[in-house]
Amino acid sequence: MKQIAILGSTGSIGTQALQVIAEHPDRFEARVLTANNRWQLLVEQARRFRPAAVVIANEMHYDTVKAALDDLPIAVYTGAEALCQVVQSGEVDMVLTAMVGFAGLPPTIAAIKAGKPIALANKETMVVAGELINSLCRQYQVPILPVDSEHSAIFQSIIGEVSPIEKIILTASGGPFRTFTREQLESVTPAMALKHPNWDMGAKITIDSASMMNKGFEVIEAKWLFAVEPERIQVVVHPQSVVHSGVQFADGAVKAQLGVPDMRVPIQLAFSYPERLQSSFDRLDWYTMHDLTFERPDTERFRCLALAYEALHRGGNAPCIVNAANEIVNRAFLEGKCRFLQMADIIEKTLDKASFITSPTYEDYLATDKEARRIATSLL
Ligand code: NAD
Ligand code: MG
Repeated sequence: MKQIAILGSTGSIGTQALQVIAEHPDRFEARVLTANNRWQLLVEQARRFRPAAVVIANEMHYDTVKAALDDLPIAVYTGAEALCQVVQSGEVDMVLTAMVGFAGLPPTIAAIKAGKPIALANKETMVVAGELINSLCRQYQVPILPVDSEHSAIFQSIIGEVSPIEKIILTASGGPFRTFTREQLESVTPAMALKHPNWDMGAKITIDSASMMNKGFEVIEAKWLFAVEPERIQVVVHPQSVVHSGVQFADGAVKAQLGVPDMRVPIQLAFSYPERLQSSFDRLDWYTMHDLTFERPDTERFRCLALAYEALHRGGNAPCIVNAANEIVNRAFLEGKCRFLQMADIIEKTLDKASFITSPTYEDYLATDKEARRIATSLL
């Protein structure tokens, strides 16, 4: 029985992870559940899955959650520090990082230091501090199992290979604005951006997908997860989201992973690896898939993608700066305080203004995150 701690159990990834656990009650148990604000759902989940502990990160809701679970032997904690503590519990066998943004970094590091294998959904952790995470994983001999569908596909494509990767083919749906002109992009609204063609995800990543910052982040994530330089990571727009990504080898052979767009597949594999478990999820219907198409991404209309490459080239804390600025403009766009194309402008200016650090420590990342948020906010 694998005991899993889910950081962010009330979100899109978190709820799907609980569906996977519910499908395999003989294999997986939810040991820890955590949420930020959606306390009602957290309580519902706790009553159903009976974890040993829950964390409601937002302290405002602590008393309510505590009272609502009073009749059960479930420990209730609150605050950001509690997230770092619960993942270290001796009973936890794996930590699924399904929180959003920079906030996922401290508990991920705490989990690695406690020797817990990571099922990584929180890509911002790798964007911000991929080098540090990798060195901690080496030091504590902790594996990272990718949950992001593209990275799971790449991971699946290299199983059994002993030769180096020649190139990663990182597919992108292109998002809801793939065919929009620059003029049309000027006036897109949050409601339009929140309608992703293929995936039903949390608001932040849905906006990142519309701007293609999400793909930029995935390039950075792939660099650190698979030790491949950015020149060898080719982004290919594939609107049908059937080919989830792939790898090309020295002989020109390409291996890719295909499937219905369903995050439960990579979540389940991260939980069960190296085994594959039975699932009731939809299968591909080969006779109805007439058009699988592939195109070049347009980094002039989708400048966030270019900015992510730029951050990688600068190295050091540059990706951390871009991530922080992006969290600010993403939120501002959702709240109607920033136009769609303005997001890239502000990120670019923040990248130029924030202090550059070549070899950042953990404390440097914390300081960079603060500084870049302050700069991006002042530019809004
Ligand atoms: P979501 O907004 O649906 O859920 C986020 C979860 O994290 C919620 O449970 C929320 O309570 C919790 N949370 C948010 N901020 C927190 C904080 N400061 N402290 C504690 N808890 C906090 O997000 P999501 O779409 O499930 O995405 C989660 C992560 O997975 C993101 O990093 C995203 O990039 C990544 N990811 C998501 C998908 C997807 O299909 N949704 C795919 C690939 C990667
Ligand atoms: Mg992805």
